[in-house]
Amino acid sequence: MNTQVAIIGAGPSGLLLGQLLYKAGIDTVILERQTPEYVLGRIRAGVLEQGTADLLREAGVSERMDREGLVHEGVELLVAGRRQRLDLKGLTGGKTVMVYGQTEVTRDLMQAREASGAPIIYSASNVQPHELKGERPYVTFEKDGQTHRLDCDYIAGCDGFHGVSRKSIPEGVLKEYERVYPFGWLGMLSDTPPVNHELIYAHHERGFSLCSQRSQTRSRYYLQVPLEERVEDWSDERFWNELKARLPADVAQQLVTGPALEKSIAPLRSLVVEPMQYGHLFLVGDAAHIVPPTGAKGLNLAASDVNYLYRILVKVYREGRTDLLEQYSPLALRRVWKGERFSWFMTQLLHDFGEHKDAWDQKMQEADREYFLTSPAGLVNIAENYVGLPYEEVA
Ligand SMILES: Cc1cc2nc3c(=O)[nH]c(=O)nc-3n(C[C@H](O)[C@H](O)[C@H](O)COP(=O)(O)OP(=O)(O)OC[C@H]3O[C@@H](n4cnc5c(N)ncnc54)[C@H](O)[C@@H]3O)c2cc1C
Repeated sequence: MNTQVAIIGAGPSGLLLGQLLYKAGIDTVILERQTPEYVLGRIRAGVLEQGTADLLREAGVSERMDREGLVHEGVELLVAGRRQRLDLKGLTGGKTVMVYGQTEVTRDLMQAREASGAPIIYSASNVQPHELKGERPYVTFEKDGQTHRLDCDYIAGCDGFHGVSRKSIPEGVLKEYERVYPFGWLGMLSDTPPVNHELIYAHHERGFSLCSQRSQTRSRYYLQVPLEERVEDWSDERFWNELKARLPADVAQQLVTGPALEKSIAPLRSLVVEPMQYGHLFLVGDAAHIVPPTGAKGLNLAASDVNYLYRILVKVYREGRTDLLEQYSPLALRRVWKGERFSWFMTQLLHDFGEHKDAWDQKMQEADREYFLTSPAGLVNIAENYVGLPYEEVA
């Protein structure tokens, strides 16, 4: 079997890259270790930057997003009992975000892949990239008990944090930067109308909470919890009571409760590996970087990497610009680091670090909140990062 670009992983990165390259006339084969049902069962991100939404439009998969997605022009921040609306549109010269679940983005991309007839192989096990530094890279995998070989020009490692791509780079090549936070987020999905028409990020002495949403009838709520917490210990009732305790009385009163469709705990961590290229292998999305979800950047940074790799590969195949391949890692990383900084900053700003912050750090956190939420420049700073910084040109 052979192709131009072998894509490992059918998460948002792999599927979006595959769709954009298909539209540009570049052949790809996507190899995914799970079944499509399993991939669609993962409840994850829900806020798309304008640049991500535009990229989905360019990929021709935006019809349902533009019909059903919710354009949000602001978010609310609740700090020290003060409720403040961040006017994203007004503060950024007209930019907004789109509330549309990662599951729906993935479903739209899977359907587009199927309609295109381009190959995608689910339940592919033991996927392994080879000859990354050589002229003839290839990927081997097993399917239905048979071993297959896929020859290609380039390999896109879109296989997330636990994937094989990053691990196949020899030891000592990658430099890893990591920050682990002393808490996680307990998330709950429910078919209840959102408590507010915009997202609410709430700092509270009991811990951070986020009132998010997937649609006008489906809500996603999060609570900051200690790392050792177990999801089995959180009944629906306990979750709702704790959320109400962290919200002001008028908001808590509006909260419509109901049975959980899903509950899970995700530890918070920041991680980046550099460089994002090794020979003919390119790391994309969570395979190269993880952010705490506080800034809503995980999926958006994955889309940002796809944007750069797609534009470079089009110039490689159409114009012979192989010189651009080395630009992928520095271009992608410049934007990744800004997303990492913002996610780290929002996590610092809004969470309760308890004994993990000393008295000085606590005061700095309070001063940051005071400054960023009262100064016009501080508000613009948060707003322009939240809606997403611009992509650089690939030239
Ligand atoms: C629990 C959780 C909650 C999150 N919540 C948010 C949020 O609220 N906001 C936000 O912005 N971001 C959130 N994120 C982050 C966001 O979901 C990710 O950044 C995004 O999924 C990255 O897309 P990706 O395609 O790079 O990786 P993934 O979505 O991880 O996709 C990788 C794909 O590769 C496949 N794969 C892995 N290994 C192999 C292999 N060896 N061979 C073949 N295929 C393989 C996987 O099965 C998967 O389908 C969350 C992440 C998690 C884990």
